[in-house]
Amino acid sequence: MTSTDLETFDSVNPATGEVLATVSVHDAASIDAAVAAARPAAQWWGGLGFKERARRLRQWRGWLVNHANELAELVHEENGKPVDDAIIEISVAVEHLDWAATHAGKVLRRTSTRPGLLAVNHGASVEYVPFGVVGVIGPWNWPVHTPLGSISYALAAGNAVVFKPSEYTPLIGQWLADSFSRLTTEQPVFTVVTGRAETGAALCRSGVDKLAFTGSTATGKKVMAACAETLTPVVIECGGKDAMIVAADADIEAAAAGAAWGGMSNGGQTCVGIERVYVVAPVYERYVASLVSQTSELRAGDDRTADYGPITVPGQLDVIAAHIDEALDAGATALVGGRNSVQAPYVGPVVLADVPADSRAEQDETFGPTLTVTRVRDEDEAIARANGTKLGLGAAVYSARRGRAIAEQLRCGMVSVNSVLTFASVPSLPFGGVGASGFGRIHGPDGLREFARSRAVTVKRAPAPIEIASFARKPGAIKSLATVVQARWGRSRY
Ligand code: NAD
Repeated sequence: MTSTDLETFDSVNPATGEVLATVSVHDAASIDAAVAAARPAAQWWGGLGFKERARRLRQWRGWLVNHANELAELVHEENGKPVDDAIIEISVAVEHLDWAATHAGKVLRRTSTRPGLLAVNHGASVEYVPFGVVGVIGPWNWPVHTPLGSISYALAAGNAVVFKPSEYTPLIGQWLADSFSRLTTEQPVFTVVTGRAETGAALCRSGVDKLAFTGSTATGKKVMAACAETLTPVVIECGGKDAMIVAADADIEAAAAGAAWGGMSNGGQTCVGIERVYVVAPVYERYVASLVSQTSELRAGDDRTADYGPITVPGQLDVIAAHIDEALDAGATALVGGRNSVQAPYVGPVVLADVPADSRAEQDETFGPTLTVTRVRDEDEAIARANGTKLGLGAAVYSARRGRAIAEQLRCGMVSVNSVLTFASVPSLPFGGVGASGFGRIHGPDGLREFARSRAVTVKRAPAPIEIASFARKPGAIKSLATVVQARWGRSRY
């Protein structure tokens, strides 16, 4: 993975500090070369058509499934998450890959539409054609599923992909590209460039036809600014501060189990992880008792029985510690863990109650195994608190009868009722946020269209009943048009 004339950096096991490999820092020139090589690859891949692409993508699906254990071990080593969590991640990614391959033709192929009165003598159709070369910039926290959520859909839509994985997970990114290249040897359809922020910025400026970014809100703004220089379209998938609402008629044990898993699996390093819980007063005490009993024994570690792994990015430990400290200083109570839970590279489970609404632990993404839990008067207050941050990615609602009604009032892109994170595993559902969580959608039909541009075509089939768009039109043509329009629309009261 290194080239002699490029700088390098190390990929490090976050649990042990062991250097796993030394990797190139791709500079602007090498990225431009990768994008240039991807151009003919995009032509070739796009020209294969939906059926052949689907066949090859299914072959890749088979490869990923048959080598899932090898990939899961690599994910464990480089990202730190338990092997079982890596298997979950790979399984979700494979379902999405299959869905994208199977549905791309149906969603993107040319379809006819009614031409309407003014073009009644024309046929009208729209098709969705690939952009060409798509740049993908990914995070480290779900290093397989998250980038593939863009890459699988971009490939299925007929694009070539140049992928810059996170500097914390370059080997996983390279593994994914190598596995695809093994099955598509003709052209470099899916390639990887490695490096840090400058490499990502250079990819934004490389002339790719679309840029799919997943990462933090702060970086998302920089990516958008860099892409604006060349009017390169972007899809921006940023962080979250997902809330759970627990209604009076909720299954309390299930809601507490959902928060425990949604908040603390993967060490809380999940964009749609639960970070805040709002519980209506009548069931608050019962809920808290269950949440404490279901989280206090969770254990972070590097061994096979650990519930979750280390904090992958060392700098995040300071953010987590600051959120906990500030909340406690502001009068919050630690129900589980506390100030001493941060023991690099691990953070033990933390549950904080009575955290002020304006504190960072309630407003900003913590990205650690921490939950805030708040007693609210009623569902309205829970909804207001849930909607009270700039971020708006996902959410969860627990209620026997009111789940959908509450979900419809939440300002976010996805909601799971009586479960957590389920929306992310449904390939036919769009995924993406509002506000500071970003815009654009991956997954589902919207996710396929995100990686294609529409091309609208009209075909004249017969002479116009009244020729209008011509200098040679008959003298009464516009009068006839006005009469027709009046007859169609002029009867309304206004
Ligand atoms: P990050 O923003 O630090 O980095 C993301 C990627 O951007 C990395 O590959 C990084 O090298 C690159 N990058 C950094 N600076 C850049 C620049 N100036 N120009 C171009 N690229 C640049 O995020 P992270 O720490 O890797 O990931 C965690 C974040 O990602 C969290 O906020 C998490 O919520 C979010 N996330 C969102 C989703 C989603 O689908 N919405 C999914 C997973 C993670």
